[in-house]
Amino acid sequence: MDFARRGVMLVIASPSGAGKSSISRSLFAQDPNIRLSVSVTTRARRNDEVDGTHYYFIDVPTFERMKADDELLEWAKVHDNYYGTPRAKVEEQLLAGNDILFDIDYQGTLQLYEKSRADMVTVFILPPTIEELRARLERRAQDSVGTIEKRLRNAKLEMQHYNEYDYVIVNDDLEASSQKVRTILAAARLARLRWTELDSFVDDLQDQIDRL
Ligand code: GDP
Ligand code: ADP
Ligand code: 5GP
Repeated sequence: MDFARRGVMLVIASPSGAGKSSISRSLFAQDPNIRLSVSVTTRARRNDEVDGTHYYFIDVPTFERMKADDELLEWAKVHDNYYGTPRAKVEEQLLAGNDILFDIDYQGTLQLYEKSRADMVTVFILPPTIEELRARLERRAQDSVGTIEKRLRNAKLEMQHYNEYDYVIVNDDLEASSQKVRTILAAARLARLRWTELDSFVDDLQDQIDRL
C-alpha cells in the first residue's frame, strides 16, 4: 500500500550539453506524476522552445521586478543571462504530492538547499568526454559558435560543483542514464520523511494491539 506524501524536488544539473534536457524529456514521457518547474529566463528563445513550456522568456526589467517582489524562489546569472524559479505553485504542487523537476544550475541548487533540503534529491550529469560534449553542443545546433565556446569554457567551472550533489551520472548511454534517474526518483518517493500520514497509521496499528 502507499501513503499520501509530499512531492519530491528533483534537481538535475550539468554542464550545458551533457544531456539533462534529454534525460528530463525521457522522464516526463514515462511518468505523469513529475512536472517541470518552468523557469523564467532573459536569454533568447531557441527555435525548438515554446514560451511557457520550456521557459517563460522575459526581459531584464521584468526579471528585476519579479526579483524585487520576491516572486523567485531562487535565481542566478548563468552564461550572461538571468534565470529564476517562480515561487508560485511549487509549495502547492509539493503539498498535492506532485514531484517537480528543477533544471537549475549549482547556484540555484545551493539556494534551494538552504530552504528545502529535506524535500530535495539532486543529480549531477557529466559527459563521458569533452570531445563528446562539444559534439553534442554542435549537433544540437541551437547555439552560435561563440555561445558554444562560452558554454564549453563554463563547463569547467560547473563541473567543480559535482560534489554538492547527492548522485552523479556519466551520461554515455541516454536510456541507461534515464533509467538511473527513474531509480533515484523511485527511491526518493519511498523516503519515510515524505509520508504525511505515517504517524496516524502507526498509531492505528498500536491501537489494534491494545484491542487484542
Ligand atoms: P542548457 O545548459 O543547454 O540546458 O541550457 P539552458 O539555457 O536551458 O540553461 C542554462 C543554465 O541555467 C543551466 O545551468 C540551468 O541549469 C540553469 N537554469 C535553468 N533554469 C534555472 C532556474 O530556474 N534557476 C537557476 N538557478 N538556474 C537555472
Ligand atoms: P543539456 O540539456 O544538458 O544542455 P541536451 O539534453 O540538450 O543537454 O543534450 C545535448 C545534445 O546531446 C542533444 O542534441 C542530445 O540529443 C544529445 N545527447 C544527450 N544525451 C546523449 C547521449 N547519451 N548520447 C548521445 N547524444 C546525447
Ligand atoms: P540554457 O540556456 O541552455 O537553457 O540553460 C543554461 C543553464 O541555466 C542550465 O545549466 C540550466 O540548468 C540553467 N537554468 C535554467 N533555468 C534556471 C533557473 O531558473 N535558475 C537557475 N539557477 N538556473 C537555471
